[in-house]
Amino acid sequence: MSRDCIFCKIVRGEIPSHKILEDENSFAFLDIHPLADGHTMIIPKDHIERFEDVPPVQLGKLFESVQRVTKSLKNSLKAPAVTIGINNGHAAGQVVPHLHIHVIPRFENDGGGSVHSIVKISPTRSLEEVVRLLQSALKN
Ligand code: 5GP
Ligand code: ZN
Repeated sequence: MSRDCIFCKIVRGEIPSHKILEDENSFAFLDIHPLADGHTMIIPKDHIERFEDVPPVQLGKLFESVQRVTKSLKNSLKAPAVTIGINNGHAAGQVVPHLHIHVIPRFENDGGGSVHSIVKISPTRSLEEVVRLLQSALKN
């Protein structure tokens, strides 16, 4: 827990939120500035800033919550699709430094784009070079 973190305060109930669900490790609540009705965020209860810092044993439970929220949005708001996203790190647009997984209900012709519309950086390396670099990093 981090004393000053806004999402830790939400988990502790020191800041009000519209809670959707809670289990041992995760907490889900509505985004205060929803991008669509039902825009929900799922967070680890522990103060973990980034996705790669989540202890692997907690990942299953965290993503079980993401799946439960997705199903509830489908059943309650009749959302035929959802966008699931993490702004993981400042350069990726993360504003609150406590990991949160956005689940945003999507509808046909709702005017939103796909992941392809968010990131458009021209590649500078060949696919062969990239696969070599990634595979060698995975060995460490
Ligand atoms: P990020 O840009 O870091 O991925 O997203 C942070 C999200 O947290 C934003 O969508 C913002 O609306 C939401 N947010 C920021 N402060 C609060 C708050 O106090 N309560 C709730 N429910 N959401 C918040
Ligand atoms: Zn926190």
